[in-house]
Amino acid sequence: MRVSRLMLVTLRDDPSEAEIPSHKLLLRAGYIRRVASGIYAYLPLMWRVLQKVSRVVREEMDGTGALETLLPQLQPAELWQRSGRWAGYTAGEGIMFHLEDRQGRELGLGPTHEEVITYLATDLLRSYRQLPVNLYQIQSKFRDEIRPRFGLMRGREFIMKDAYSFHANEESLRQTYAAMDGAYRRIFARCGLRAVAVEADSGAIGGSASQEFMVTAEAGEDLILASSDGTYAANQERAVSLADDPISLPGGPRAGGEGEPFATPGQSTIEDLCAGHGIEPCQTVKVLMLLARFEDQSAQPLLVSLRGDQQLNEVKLANAVTARCSAEHGALLDISPITKEAAASEGLLPLPFGFMGPHLADGLLSNSGHWTKHFLRLADRTAAELSSFVCGANSTDNHLVGAAWGSLCPCPESLDLRAAQPGDRCQHDPSQQLQASRGIEVGHIFQLGRKYSEALEARFTNEAGSEEALWMGCYGIGVSRLAQAAVEQHHDGNGICWPVSIAPFEVIVVAANWAEAEQSGLAEQLYLRLQEAGVDVLLDDRSERAGVKFKDADLIGIPWRVVVGRGAADGLVELVERSSCSKRDLPAIELLETLLPCLASQRMGLPE
Ligand code: ATP
Ligand code: MG
Repeated sequence: MRVSRLMLVTLRDDPSEAEIPSHKLLLRAGYIRRVASGIYAYLPLMWRVLQKVSRVVREEMDGTGALETLLPQLQPAELWQRSGRWAGYTAGEGIMFHLEDRQGRELGLGPTHEEVITYLATDLLRSYRQLPVNLYQIQSKFRDEIRPRFGLMRGREFIMKDAYSFHANEESLRQTYAAMDGAYRRIFARCGLRAVAVEADSGAIGGSASQEFMVTAEAGEDLILASSDGTYAANQERAVSLADDPISLPGGPRAGGEGEPFATPGQSTIEDLCAGHGIEPCQTVKVLMLLARFEDQSAQPLLVSLRGDQQLNEVKLANAVTARCSAEHGALLDISPITKEAAASEGLLPLPFGFMGPHLADGLLSNSGHWTKHFLRLADRTAAELSSFVCGANSTDNHLVGAAWGSLCPCPESLDLRAAQPGDRCQHDPSQQLQASRGIEVGHIFQLGRKYSEALEARFTNEAGSEEALWMGCYGIGVSRLAQAAVEQHHDGNGICWPVSIAPFEVIVVAANWAEAEQSGLAEQLYLRLQEAGVDVLLDDRSERAGVKFKDADLIGIPWRVVVGRGAADGLVELVERSSCSKRDLPAIELLETLLPCLASQRMGLPE
């Protein structure tokens, strides 16, 4: 390919729409253009990268015996209603684009394909003899993200590889899950990415075991917590740890455990309360009042008790609420704090915001117009384990000291609701601490179990001749996100430094002065020879100044540059490696024998 034919438009300055290096560079180097929020055109250079990534993905998927397929992006609402996900994905914070056809039938644009594939399995998979099978596709997905950003990192239309496996039993599912784990590690290494596997929340997709693959990078949206020896790593959404031991409250329970009131004027935060009275945050119980809204339009007030020094993990709370309420009320749409305004408009009595205790009575909700008239009460274990504590007195400007569960009020159902923090001791080995790093989630593998097959009645006949639901796994890779993550991990002040395995071109031949026949002649010759040797080569045939062409070559990040300059007269060229900036002069006739072995090993990516 010749640069003059490439429609290459590079930008000198950082575009204002981009915040992180990879997004800036892909825009500046002419890889992508924004068409609308979260919607991008992949320009020819980008498309070459995406196809190279896809090729690696295909080879590794095919290597595990998975079959490539292509499923429809338009999906009937009915399948999603049967799995119970339609409301969660379309109402509230739902991310599915949806529409009505001319007959008034509802459809969604595929954000993921569990429903469609399970529907097909119902029809196609009848007997244990057909199992296991694993189907994958590489395709654009649509998600109306709440905050599309960072270019291809969080788009509203993006390319995903998704795979779905079907099994006769759990053991077979585990085997395929392990095979996919191995394939994913090879894919990321072959694409030149340093990626780590972490324990993940299973989220709205449901199911049991799941693991995410994170490309470590400062700009990552996810927080990874890992033990120093690397034996434990988890997304913070999911991470568990040991909280610091509490410092017991001097004096223990008071007033038989009901607690003694004391005045705390204006001290509505834990910091002010503690500073004002010499109390430790870990000696207090703070109470959060939240509202969970469901598919059936019901709204359930929540009262969550946390130890004062701990933070709520919203993902753990959402999972707990779903587990307790969704069977009756359908999908959880969202959870949000109950504000003064919301409480007032619901007709509740003035609530003692900032001074609430876990003994807040359900009676407060009796005037409520729309909400369930009792709280769902939950406590994080660290709060439930306190033998006596300080908490709000449920009257403005007052707290209680020496309150105890059982006497003040029954201890709410207790479970892990706290956010693990960097520096916490690890559960598996308290001598180690959790360390934080940031990551970009490029892949996610799940053991789904039988959630979808049961909901959509995808059954098979087992060896004993009876019918049962299929076991399922699902496995995603963000192909377009992965390509941008590679830039995030591989760039410098001058531009992108693509790993050879996914670079749009492996080599660029630049004639310093194209008008000089000797230079352009030799450049054309080398271009031809490299092509013949099977190298992806680009020829910069523009009559721009040499400096401009070198800058562009650095910016677009071609791994090797062959410069044909004045030395052409003596048959000499310069070979520059983009990532190390190392340069050497060599006779043009030795170019191939020097370059080809380097390329051959670099095409393999990183050692696994
Ligand atoms: P995230 O937590 O980042 O929103 P997710 O958990 O919703 O992602 P999955 O449903 O597991 O993602 O999708 C599989 C893969 O698709 C993810 O691992 C990620 O690499 C990619 N992906 C998900 N959402 C987007 C998006 N909006 N833009 C680009 N890639 C995405
Ligand atoms: Mg995920």
